[in-house]
Amino acid sequence: MSQAHPDTSTAFLDACIAALGAQHVLTDAHDTAPFVTDWRKRYQGAARAVLCPADTREVAAVVKLAHAHRIALVPQGGNTGLAGGATPDAAGGEAVLSLRRLNRVREIDPHNNTITVEAGVILAEVQARAAEAGRLFPLSLAAEGSCTIGGNLSTNAGGTGVLRYGNTRELCLGLEVVTPEGEIWDGLRGLRKDNTGYDLRDLFIGAEGTLGIITAAVMKLHPQPAARVTALAALGSAHAALDFLALAQRYAGPLLTGFELMSDFCMRLVGRHFPQLRYPFQTHHAQVVLLELSDNESEEHARALFERLMEAALEQGLVEDAVVAESLAQSQAFWNIREHIPLAQAQEGLNVKHDIGVPISRIGHFIEETDAEIARTVPGARMVTFGHLGDGNLHYNVQAPEGVDPKSFLAENEKTLNRIVYDSVHRHRGTISAEHGLGQLKVDEAAHYKSAVELRLMQAIKAALDPLNLMNPGKVLRTPRSTGEASA
Ligand SMILES: Cc1cc2nc3c(=O)[nH]c(=O)nc-3n(C[C@H](O)[C@H](O)[C@H](O)COP(=O)(O)OP(=O)(O)OC[C@H]3O[C@@H](n4cnc5c(N)ncnc54)[C@H](O)[C@@H]3O)c2cc1C
Repeated sequence: MSQAHPDTSTAFLDACIAALGAQHVLTDAHDTAPFVTDWRKRYQGAARAVLCPADTREVAAVVKLAHAHRIALVPQGGNTGLAGGATPDAAGGEAVLSLRRLNRVREIDPHNNTITVEAGVILAEVQARAAEAGRLFPLSLAAEGSCTIGGNLSTNAGGTGVLRYGNTRELCLGLEVVTPEGEIWDGLRGLRKDNTGYDLRDLFIGAEGTLGIITAAVMKLHPQPAARVTALAALGSAHAALDFLALAQRYAGPLLTGFELMSDFCMRLVGRHFPQLRYPFQTHHAQVVLLELSDNESEEHARALFERLMEAALEQGLVEDAVVAESLAQSQAFWNIREHIPLAQAQEGLNVKHDIGVPISRIGHFIEETDAEIARTVPGARMVTFGHLGDGNLHYNVQAPEGVDPKSFLAENEKTLNRIVYDSVHRHRGTISAEHGLGQLKVDEAAHYKSAVELRLMQAIKAALDPLNLMNPGKVLRTPRSTGEASA
């Protein structure tokens, strides 16, 4: 367990206590422990304090103090990020800035179809408050009971509804941000059109806390669909799945809200570790796709549309078998299979994870080429390939060969496998992180694949907004360290 930094009586901490109250400045190792380790327990950091302001004004006060005392801040929401972005470094000089107490829904405007929420509101709460107002907030991901809207914005989270509604960036109309100097930028505009210069909002979204602290946001709402129906389709290859996606989009248009690919090995893994989740087909097929329709008319309408789509796909030889959910419970059972893949993978043992994106049209080629290269380099490696095919985003994970100790497999092969996968992604003009961000996990990989021009532009933005490098240093970009004791 980490120790609190010995220097707990500095002027900075005294000033924070005066601003927030002693109970909201945590320095005891027992209290700070949950904030200095990431969700996967991959990183163990240390913090001189965990600061818990209650509102935007208090955030601004703390940031001003950090600026004056040259203390680096690591913003944190639900701490569910998968790239170590919310974990401080191990030196113990940084302070974690927890946004969880900023948990108010400020306004729901049904006619503007917007909800204004503070950064620490849990995603499931945003969904629930929207539903109470008869609206849909469509961002949905497995961590929704713990992650916060500030974290979703800062990682530009995706999830299961991107195909229809876009990722978090597309769901955001305005932001309130505390700048690295502690000023408050009120950009809480609920506008769908605003062409008045640089889009500052888009700069802070996906910045992983490296440019400032998001304290509130205006998010878009959508009409609640009348019904949601899912179906599973069995296919012979990822190429067939792409043709099937095009057909499904032609039939369903914007009603198609989910299109998830699951390779046969994923289905077998789920079957092995969660046998209570029934495999839905008579025989095994190379790929299975989960489709979801969100229908504004009725369940019957959605089901009839599915029937027509599946008939056409079977006729064209795209689909080998299909089953449409007969009830809400069956729809949930289909989603359960998809959601249990990461859990089944964890039960099987440590593995090498990738969260990659390539243009949708290249997915089939990417899988074929990369699978073949991995098979040549690490014979017997088992590919766990699943994800949001409709967004061009795959979880392309590698499990140790049957019977091989996962720990030694990882130690021996992780670097080689990462290079094979990321080189292939690069050849296909893709991205090494389509969802989870860079955090501290992929900083060096990003530097390896981004061009010198792109890196220089990113460094210039960081230097312009945060010249002292006090906002989440070491995340997203390698920057010279400037933290430590007050120099002014
Ligand atoms: C089980 C599970 C499933 C997931 N599924 C998905 C998925 O389907 N799609 C997907 O995209 N992601 C997924 N994720 C990862 C996802 O990025 C996070 O769950 C979520 O978006 C992060 O929110 P958080 O509040 O936990 O942020 P944190 O983990 O606390 O922080 C994430 C990053 O944002 C910064 N940050 C947090 N709050 C602020 C703020 N207010 N201002 C400035 N910076 C801030 C932090 O410094 C850090 O860099 C999943 C994670 C888990 C554990």
